[in-house]
Amino acid sequence: MAASPSGSTHSQCPYCGVGCGLELMPPAVKNQPTRRDAQGLPIWGARGDRSHPSSLGQVCIKGATVCETLAGGRLATPLARRSLDEPFQPISWDEALDRIVDRMRTSLQARGPQALAMYGSGQFHTEDYYVAQKLFKGALGTNNFDANSRLCMSSAVAGYTRSLGSDGPPCCYEDLDHCSVAFLIGTNTAECHPVLFQRLLKRKRRQSDSLTIVVVDPRETATSDAADLHLAIRPGTDLVLLHGVAHLLLRQTAIDFEFIEGETEGFAAYAELVQAWTPDRVSRICGIPESSLGQLAALWGQSASVLSLWSMGVNQSVEGTATVAGLINLHLLTGQIGKVGAGPFSLTGQPNAMGGREAGGLAHLLPGYRTVTNATHRATVEAAWGFAPGAIDARPGLAAWQQVEAMEAGELDLWWVAATNPLVSMPNLERVKAAMRHCPLVVVSDAYANTETAQYAHLLLPAAQWSEKAGVMVNSERRVTLCPAFRQPPAQARPDWEVFAEVGRRLGFVDQFGYASAAEVYAEFCQLTAGRLCDHSGLSHGLLEAEGPQQWPFPAGSAPTTASKRLYTDFRFATPSGRGRFIAEHPLGLAEPPCEAYPLVLTVGRYLGQWHTMTRTGRVARLNAMHPEPLLEIHPEDAYPLGLESGDQAAITSRRATLSARVDVTERIRPGTVFLPMHWGFLQDPPCEANALLHEQACPISKQPELKATAVSVAAV
Ligand code: SF4
Repeated sequence: MAASPSGSTHSQCPYCGVGCGLELMPPAVKNQPTRRDAQGLPIWGARGDRSHPSSLGQVCIKGATVCETLAGGRLATPLARRSLDEPFQPISWDEALDRIVDRMRTSLQARGPQALAMYGSGQFHTEDYYVAQKLFKGALGTNNFDANSRLCMSSAVAGYTRSLGSDGPPCCYEDLDHCSVAFLIGTNTAECHPVLFQRLLKRKRRQSDSLTIVVVDPRETATSDAADLHLAIRPGTDLVLLHGVAHLLLRQTAIDFEFIEGETEGFAAYAELVQAWTPDRVSRICGIPESSLGQLAALWGQSASVLSLWSMGVNQSVEGTATVAGLINLHLLTGQIGKVGAGPFSLTGQPNAMGGREAGGLAHLLPGYRTVTNATHRATVEAAWGFAPGAIDARPGLAAWQQVEAMEAGELDLWWVAATNPLVSMPNLERVKAAMRHCPLVVVSDAYANTETAQYAHLLLPAAQWSEKAGVMVNSERRVTLCPAFRQPPAQARPDWEVFAEVGRRLGFVDQFGYASAAEVYAEFCQLTAGRLCDHSGLSHGLLEAEGPQQWPFPAGSAPTTASKRLYTDFRFATPSGRGRFIAEHPLGLAEPPCEAYPLVLTVGRYLGQWHTMTRTGRVARLNAMHPEPLLEIHPEDAYPLGLESGDQAAITSRRATLSARVDVTERIRPGTVFLPMHWGFLQDPPCEANALLHEQACPISKQPELKATAVSVAAV
């Protein structure tokens, strides 16, 4: 329920994809310390919401401190400048919107809609995402809308779709309480999804005999510290490992023949392919003992319920989609899907990346898990939106990095960035900066004034953020939470959906964008999901406010419940045949393997106390004290020959950039691999643009860049 008699308000945490429930307490509530924000206003308190079925009252330090981040450093008014070398000047919203609409009209006449693009965010509410799709894909006629989810979860989207016929994680958090094996691959859950990890850990402490935790990660982390089996494989060898497990399962006939026969397709080609991935070969390539591989295969073959959890370590790879499919293959091989405690479960990075996918928030998608390449889907959406047949382009738009390349080539007249900070989070940052200099109009909608991306913008639009606007977010277990407005935004800040709708009206689409509230936007979106896998048609702001968070599918007429739902419990998948598909793909390895000049593999990741590019968490002293600076983790075997000791400053060089960071010499990372956090940008103290080092080569199917592995050299400075 959104509000309680005590005056406290319920919402979803706006950081990671766990999507914990928060109870927000007004400053006047008794026993709450009265702290003041940057505007001198008392700060709301935040604690875990016991009534939220996903998180059961738990919260991590980021969620607990979120209210401390909301006021300082805000962008208060629209700002504009003609060139990047001039200072910004305040302008009115009218003038700002005129500039955008004029540019759109000119571009549409001169070059067509492909010269316009938007780069959005998993921080959007579903309503923001939805109206942005309608504006770009419907009104403007370009599918050039992509989001930072492309860097985060698009391999999971593509993997689910290829193997199961649709996007949509089949599992729920309750499965953590029931699985016999938790198989964590490419995820540092303890730091990146901490509340879920604590749930797993609590169970491990109570029921150690009934739960085996396996972690696959080149680093020892707080996650692997809890593992019964830790496989520190070489970066880029995940798919080899998964095929090696399949090879042993087939050899030992530890597979579910009945399930394979009755519920799947493509088995023969897959079985033939994995014959090549013998234990000695897999052991050599992954850099792990054969015995560890054997242990892992035995767990897959003999356990009652295997729950796979993965995140960016799998997705951010040139073979991310193939690796997701490789993981789902193991679930199909052993019949470990659609059952309690079992299944392939992607842990979404951002708070509403799930909602974004449902709203069509990637360049190839339309609302309701539809695609732009499907004529029936386009026709349905055009009719629902009130646009003429053919209004939606049949070609996928530009994905995230393709938008950068288009700017570089002078093909974009307008790049509109909203609720994200790509000049920290994109790969190959110097190339992104240069590309932005080529774009005649870069618009940045953000709640905060002084981001790295804002330095390369012509027009800054002040955004109302979480807590200041109503909307829904959807977490990793498909649970939809209403996030109400409970604080006032800075005077001129506006919700993104409202701004997108205003642009639509100014372009002449008055009826299509005549929304009076976020609730109206959500109602329209819900209708468009009727009959789809991600069916929200029985949901509304009113129902979510009255009944609390609900999981989809929630067709019209559904009864509200707090019980957990799973997909595919009847083993009927969303493919045309209803069968789960085995996908047979040989591993390719890293796009940029180590070499003589760049002998180490840099992998990047996150710290527990920081979130993405630190625009919020970087404002909290307690969080900064946890991680005062970014540290380069390096193994003694690599560090000592370079003359490096812990605390020394090192230069890290890739084919694209050089940066400097202090080193942490540790045996917790495998030799040949180094680690840097991705949070720090050029405005942070100390500046440390880890992503400037990274290459942009991407998975050809998901178009997700390989942010997890780049060849570098390290030297003492
Ligand atoms: Fe927020 Fe994620 Fe922490 Fe939950 S685990 S409180 S969603 S950051």
